[in-house]
Amino acid sequence: ENFAGLLMRVTRPTFSVEFFPPRDDAGAVVLHRAIRELEPLHPDFVSVTYGANGSSRERTLGAVRDIVESTGLRVVGHLTCTAQSVTQLEEVIDTYGELGVRHILALRGDMPGGPLACWQPHPHGLRNATELVELVKSRGDFCVGVAAFPDIHPGSTPGDDVAALCAKQAAGAEFAITQLFFRPGSYRELVSRMRAAGCTLPVLAGVMPVTTIRQLDKFAELSGAPLPEHLRTRLGAVASDPERVRQVGSQICAELATELLGDGVPGLHFFTQNRSVATREILARLLASRH
Ligand code: FAD
Repeated sequence: ENFAGLLMRVTRPTFSVEFFPPRDDAGAVVLHRAIRELEPLHPDFVSVTYGANGSSRERTLGAVRDIVESTGLRVVGHLTCTAQSVTQLEEVIDTYGELGVRHILALRGDMPGGPLACWQPHPHGLRNATELVELVKSRGDFCVGVAAFPDIHPGSTPGDDVAALCAKQAAGAEFAITQLFFRPGSYRELVSRMRAAGCTLPVLAGVMPVTTIRQLDKFAELSGAPLPEHLRTRLGAVASDPERVRQVGSQICAELATELLGDGVPGLHFFTQNRSVATREILARLLASRH
């Protein structure tokens, strides 16, 4: 069964985790440990990120192959269209198909310099994620997911963001996963803008536990919104003790997740950074609070 079918059927929120492909042998050991420790929690899927310009193509495909061959997990392979021709993209889609991967997260990707750098299509490539959804659907029976932005995509507007989500659904996308965010209200507003525009995609909430103080500014940059002051204060108060930072970061993430679950979010997608401790801790907190 594909994930979109599962989402329609299950009455519980789904749980999924995101990994990035390891850069070296030491990274592979870390990833394997995270997979080994998270698999017993039965994630509904695991996803593997893809280098913005195809730079990590082989590493992404290698990590996906590894997970497919060594676990029973449902894998969602990411794919971006930055700096690649249609022919190159088709090759990756077909390789996913050959590996038995039936789920692809179709993304545009960014130019070097991040989401605010002016995006240029490859001369023989695609212009946006909507066109990538179309391409993936044209190559086989794939279930396709797309990105959504509770704090608005950097450089975009709320209206354009929702128009893009409508276009991606019309092109065949069946679910969305959000960029990380810190305010439950941002998620609620995104979903109500989507529904008002007729976009019915289920939106999984992407959540990330802060595990080090250094991550704070990077997260804020990714989400497109600054970290709320009260969260900065709570983390700042324990800054000198890395273990306390991790605990407070997990606590903050669990509070966000609890509120989202109360709002009826269809699923939580954890940006794990290839670690498992914080994700396992948060899940345990969520389960304990439900009983
Ligand atoms: P698009 O949907 O293409 O949007 C980009 C711009 O194009 C927007 O301004 C939009 O309004 C416009 N647009 C879209 N469709 C249309 C249309 N039909 N007509 C006119 N305009 C349109 N990046 C990576 O490099 N690798 C990853 O693995 C990766 N994984 C991610 C996972 C998640 C869950 C998320 C939320 C993001 C991820 N990203 C990843 C980041 C993503 O590539 C960037 O955020 C990028 O800037 C936007 O990607 P997008 O798919 O939303 O682009």
